[in-house]
Amino acid sequence: MLIVMRHGASEQQINNVVEVIKKKGRDAHVSTGDVHTVIGAVGAKPVDPRDFELLDGVKEVLKISSSYKLVSRIFKPEDTIIDVKGEKFGGGNIGLIAGPCTIESEEQIEAAASKLASYGVKIIRGGAFKPRTSPYSFQGLGEEGLKIIRKVADKYNLAVTSEVMEISQIPMFLKYVDILQVGARNMQNFNLLKELSHINKPVMIKRGLSATIEEWLMAAEYILSGGNMEVILCERGIRTFERATRNTLDLCSIPVVKKVSHLPIIIDPSHGTGLRDKVVPMSLASVAAGCDGLMIEVHDNPDCALCDGAQSLYPEQYKDLMEKLAKIAPVVDKKMNY
Ligand code: PEP
Ligand code: MN
Repeated sequence: MLIVMRHGASEQQINNVVEVIKKKGRDAHVSTGDVHTVIGAVGAKPVDPRDFELLDGVKEVLKISSSYKLVSRIFKPEDTIIDVKGEKFGGGNIGLIAGPCTIESEEQIEAAASKLASYGVKIIRGGAFKPRTSPYSFQGLGEEGLKIIRKVADKYNLAVTSEVMEISQIPMFLKYVDILQVGARNMQNFNLLKELSHINKPVMIKRGLSATIEEWLMAAEYILSGGNMEVILCERGIRTFERATRNTLDLCSIPVVKKVSHLPIIIDPSHGTGLRDKVVPMSLASVAAGCDGLMIEVHDNPDCALCDGAQSLYPEQYKDLMEKLAKIAPVVDKKMNY
């Protein structure tokens, strides 16, 4: 249930509504908008809307029929902007994340980071704990990998994103990483999501391999409902009957999500297509379709990459792509930092 306060409602009136929500056994989440303050009353306890309609300062009480509430635009009409060391996602900003699939060595991260930083990239990616289909594939360097990417990122003043696979790893990730990534295979690991709802760093949730947009938004709802409002959604392709590409990149999810949710949505065309020559056109299409950012795999020497070389761009190719993206962004009223 959402309680919309009148324009100009006082702080005392807002606090009073919050108190009543809590007394009724629900959690209260306040969204302060430009025009109205909206208070979400979330939880399983049944509540009667009439108990709120007559409280001072209340404009209207909305029963939300959609399963997601805090991620919805009804709760928060304005775009959420996630700002990571000055790189912004949402609210008309296109944020970029680039880097190798996995951290292989300090030399490899140094080679990627030095070039990416010289192009103006602000956030580097790299997996240290890799969810591989085969137990015999390279599983990542673990904490050693996180130490490497943090050290190199600090040298070039970059922020870092990396995938956290389980609850016990969260404290370690908080030491080294600026955005905690939840992988497609973990999108519905609800215990992990609940723990990430209590941290105060942004979380990027990748869409599950066979998840509907609603299920994906519900995964984000888990994080917001625990108090962490900093969530980035990442579309990375879904499993369909099509075999020409690794996954089917659902770019339609951009306008669908933008309409119903205030959260930023970014696109990962690398996992979405699985092939380097498809990454460039799909990146351009993503920006044209209104995405809030892109996460792209870039490797200094993709032909020797331990993981996902075929879908990793060469650094120069990425630089060329950035220049093209910067031309498309203003056409769709978006800003890029480059
Ligand atoms: C990744 O981004 O490193 C990754 C493993 O992607 P996904 O979870 O989308 O498969
Ligand atoms: Mn990868």
